[in-house]
Amino acid sequence: MIDSIKLKLITWFLAVFTIIFTSLGFFLYYELKEIVMSSLDEHMHSEVTFLAGILASEAEQGNLEEGVAEITMAASGSYSVALSGHYYQILDDKGNILGRSPSLFLADKSLKVVDEIPYEPIFETNEGPTEDEHRMVSRAFEFSGRILIFQASDSLEESYRILRSFRNRILITLPLIYLICVSGIYCISKFALKTLNVFSNQVGRITARRLDERVDEENIDQELRPVAKSFNTMLSRLEKAFARQREFLSDASHELRTPTSVIKSRCDVTLRRERSAEDYRSAIVTIKETSARMTSIIERILDASRIESKIFSMKMSQADLSALISEAVKLIEPSAVVQDVRVNFTSTGRSVVRCDRERISEVFVNIIENAVKYNRHGGSVEIEIGREENFTVVTVADTGIGVLEEEKEKIFERFYRVDKSREVVPGTGLGLSIVKAIVESHRGRIEFESVFGKGSTFKVYLPMD
Ligand code: ADP
Repeated sequence: MIDSIKLKLITWFLAVFTIIFTSLGFFLYYELKEIVMSSLDEHMHSEVTFLAGILASEAEQGNLEEGVAEITMAASGSYSVALSGHYYQILDDKGNILGRSPSLFLADKSLKVVDEIPYEPIFETNEGPTEDEHRMVSRAFEFSGRILIFQASDSLEESYRILRSFRNRILITLPLIYLICVSGIYCISKFALKTLNVFSNQVGRITARRLDERVDEENIDQELRPVAKSFNTMLSRLEKAFARQREFLSDASHELRTPTSVIKSRCDVTLRRERSAEDYRSAIVTIKETSARMTSIIERILDASRIESKIFSMKMSQADLSALISEAVKLIEPSAVVQDVRVNFTSTGRSVVRCDRERISEVFVNIIENAVKYNRHGGSVEIEIGREENFTVVTVADTGIGVLEEEKEKIFERFYRVDKSREVVPGTGLGLSIVKAIVESHRGRIEFESVFGKGSTFKVYLPMD
């Protein structure tokens, strides 16, 4: 298979030109043949008509026989030379030869006699007196009740010579024109594809390290501008993705640095001198808790990275939100008891939506867990399911610490944690970014309202199908 545009172009043009030039050659040759033959036929026909005209005036005076003898004897020019290539003869209606041109008579030859009386002129190509190809016309005329057949024949040698010479010229000229066209196409395709080379050189200069470079959209041929534009858009997306990945890696390593240094310093301090079994136990418990926290951070990071790169697949099914929320509340109940927070969920019956059950459970566990975590002792969490236009809306309102106005948008960013909450409760700052990505992948949205020091309200909108 040809994989070069230049070669493809040339091959296509070669094929098209071959077809055009070959058909043109044949067309011209057969047109000329047609013209030569019909002019010869016309000439011979006018010859027999002329002879018949002469004979007609003789017949009017009752001298038909003498007329025939006169016509055949008085022939001049090439008709008077034996086997000159130009002949005529006159027959009666029985096919008997009444007279011949001297070109036949002197060589004692005759033309092929027609089988039927040709009231209309009959043209045919046959072997002439000299056994080469001849063109012959036969036509019958009536003279005072007598039918006479006039035949004229001309050698095709001269016509064939003209056609041969024309064919030779075509065979030389057309390939020459063909060659000129092909070289023209070669030059044009080379010139046209030069701009592709410029484009590919520009593209080649852009590497992972130089993602901020762009293809010059202005100084490129018009046809390539859309390609350059799409390429630049793709580069911008790639650049952003690379930046996000770098940011993600640095955030993740930053988050893991704290527990790692806790483990390391706890080990260093413990190993500095001999300690009691109780001290060792307490150190191991701290290390165990910190590594458990690390595991949870790593799991969250992996989860967030999967969601970020959209490589998680969703298992969609009809699920009752009311049941999912009840399960989430049950899961969080123990820690709510410890925190002395009341979680109230009054189910208003089934509320079915099409979603990935596991992911949506994760959303509510996260939001309700936060509502408990960032609450005050003796506080409460109210959960409700309602409807707004085409959405099922789950509202989770708490009486907790709330978030400052300027930090409201930031809490959905990866690894973002409000400073105050860092001091109070453990967390990774990944939960809400995951929640937002999951809800949006369900074509839903999440809204957040908060009054600092009083409480926060999260509203999750999921489309009803
Ligand atoms: P994490 O809870 O692990 O810190 P999240 O992404 O779930 O991470 O939350 C990000 C931040 O948003 C929290 O650190 C907290 O400061 C703030 N936040 C989340 N939910 C609430 C809430 N119900 N009340 C007050 N602040 C909240």
